[in-house]
Amino acid sequence: MKIGVVAYQGSFEEHALSVKRVFDKIGKGEVIPVKRAKDLDVDGIIIPGGESTTIGQVALRLGLLDPLKEKISQGIPVLGTCAGAIMLSKEVTDAKVGKKSQPLIGVMDASVIRNYYGRQRESFEATVDLEEIEGGKERFVFIRAPAISKVWGKARALATLNDVIVMAQEDQILTTTFHPELSGTTSIHEYFLRMVKR
Ligand code: GLN
Repeated sequence: MKIGVVAYQGSFEEHALSVKRVFDKIGKGEVIPVKRAKDLDVDGIIIPGGESTTIGQVALRLGLLDPLKEKISQGIPVLGTCAGAIMLSKEVTDAKVGKKSQPLIGVMDASVIRNYYGRQRESFEATVDLEEIEGGKERFVFIRAPAISKVWGKARALATLNDVIVMAQEDQILTTTFHPELSGTTSIHEYFLRMVKR
């Protein structure tokens, strides 16, 4: 199993570490950084947090955006965390600025509101109930996180926090508004890698 992590900014190392910890449980594999289209020979892709506008612009400039979109449309499993979740959603607004267009992958029937909880200092830790993926209650960090304000079509909410969707799935596309790679637990990565294995 080969997992690619988009590696322009954000926590590549932490995602790679979480994936490797799951490999120890469910089988062998490798993790590679993805920067250009030639790096897309993988079985699953993780798009980490960071700044979605930057990630989108760099992906566009380096020619990754369209091939990535194509690969996901063909059915490759993808996990988008925080900025990654923004990149995957079809509709994006910013809590402060309102509608502003930015390069997106835009494959999931979901609306997100960027910076929903406020600025950097409003980052927080909260307990999320993972019972929809047969997990327990776990602590996660939200860093200038978006909110998933709406899902439709085949997309569905997998977890909420105070009635706001924080985790969603549409077929093989999984998104979280929090950072599972910074939590010290691996339930989200394990759930994702089981999707890849199937
Ligand atoms: N606020 C960032 C954005 O809008 C996302 C933050 C994150 O990925 N931790 O892209």
